[in-house]
Amino acid sequence: MVDAKIQALRSLPAVSALLDHPDVQQETVFVGNAAAARIVRDVLSEARTSILDGHYERGRDLTERVVATIRALSNESPARVINGTGVIIQTNLGRAPVSRDTATAMARSAGRYVALETDLATGERGGRGWRITEQMRMLTGAERTLVVNNNAAAVYLMLTALCRGGDVLVSRGEAVEIGGGFRIPDVLRESGANLIEVGTTNRTYVSDYERAITDNTVAILKVHASNFAIVGFTATPALAELAALAKSRGVFLLEDAGSGCLLDSQQFGLEHEPTLEESLRAGVDVVCASGDKLLGGPQAGMIVGNERLVDRIARHPMARAVRADKTCLAGTAATLRHYLAGDATDHVPVWWAISRKSSWLEQRCQTWTHHLGGLAEIIPTRAVVGGGSLPGASLESHGIALQSSVSAETLARQLRTAQTAVVPRIIDDRVVVDARTVLADEDEVLLQTLSAVLAAAD
Ligand SMILES: *Cc1c(COP(=O)(O)O)cnc(C)c1O
Repeated sequence: MVDAKIQALRSLPAVSALLDHPDVQQETVFVGNAAAARIVRDVLSEARTSILDGHYERGRDLTERVVATIRALSNESPARVINGTGVIIQTNLGRAPVSRDTATAMARSAGRYVALETDLATGERGGRGWRITEQMRMLTGAERTLVVNNNAAAVYLMLTALCRGGDVLVSRGEAVEIGGGFRIPDVLRESGANLIEVGTTNRTYVSDYERAITDNTVAILKVHASNFAIVGFTATPALAELAALAKSRGVFLLEDAGSGCLLDSQQFGLEHEPTLEESLRAGVDVVCASGDKLLGGPQAGMIVGNERLVDRIARHPMARAVRADKTCLAGTAATLRHYLAGDATDHVPVWWAISRKSSWLEQRCQTWTHHLGGLAEIIPTRAVVGGGSLPGASLESHGIALQSSVSAETLARQLRTAQTAVVPRIIDDRVVVDARTVLADEDEVLLQTLSAVLAAAD
């Protein structure tokens, strides 16, 4: 046994032999000799360990492993995928894909100098992102908008700048975890504000807030339940009632709206998702929202509302630490242009997906099954908005269930590791591609990939 191990160790190739292998050489041009040598040494060291653990390695596997590791290093990352999951805002797949115009604007601003903080008319230093303030004013009535890195940063910055050292009232049903470790009680603590919980988990009234207001109270914080729903015996006061209370007692009414919705979600058969305009009209002083959920733009946090308060937030020292970069500002401005032009449902992918009719999706699936012959079958599905928006709401959809002799798990892996990755969903042990989340221009590449994978699997 010991002899066998020694023999296996001796039979391992030298670093130079692996590096000189033609297959490895072919990949080395993409990462350079130093990285390739490091990878070869890592692979050999792993091989030694597994030999000592009793697993034997053969030379061929080592070459393949080196080639695969180098490729993984030089491949585009994160890899592009086709979303067949039926989850429109899919956090693991990068949330909202942006419109073509938005992607172009982002790429252009990234590769060029831009008038980020320069007023071109005067040549003087200008404000950052002021055009977005103008756009948002047209769309929501907000006096001022500040764009930061994401909504988590927006909420934190808002609370730090406005509430540090004071008490913030939050309904017990809203002192929640949003996902990915973003917990309202923790964020409040880190911002230096004191969380005062009011009401109960399922029912909170204006009178609960009213009773809890003291001289230390600086704000009432409303948090949109974006990834869960409390159903049944529930009560929450209307924003306007809370706004009246806040105003009469001289405290701020702040809101974490979550998704940043600008359109009426009900026109597409979804539940009502509060819009930024509604919040502001109801009298909320400052609202925070994500730029890459229902807004459908690049990752960003939007802080909108009262000019004096948003200015105060913008001047806080931490604002610099979470500010949006030029590509984010360019992308956000380009996305907002779609809402101004009224063509968001045609061009903003999140709204394009939400607004497709189920019958249209069924027809799309018919084209797909026609192309794939007997290897796919149309099935009705339910798609969801996802990404912490509209919890519990789903949309009628259609997908194709793929037929293959391999198991669903194997086929799904083959699709995920194809040249263009397809991430399907698995329903009742069948691999399904939901038509609602495949982007408007992806039919051809999807069908090519499905044909190739299904042909290889059979
Ligand atoms: C998604 C969400 C957040 C976090 O936003 P990010 O853009 O992911 O940082 C915070 N609050 C609510 C209510 C959310 O839905």
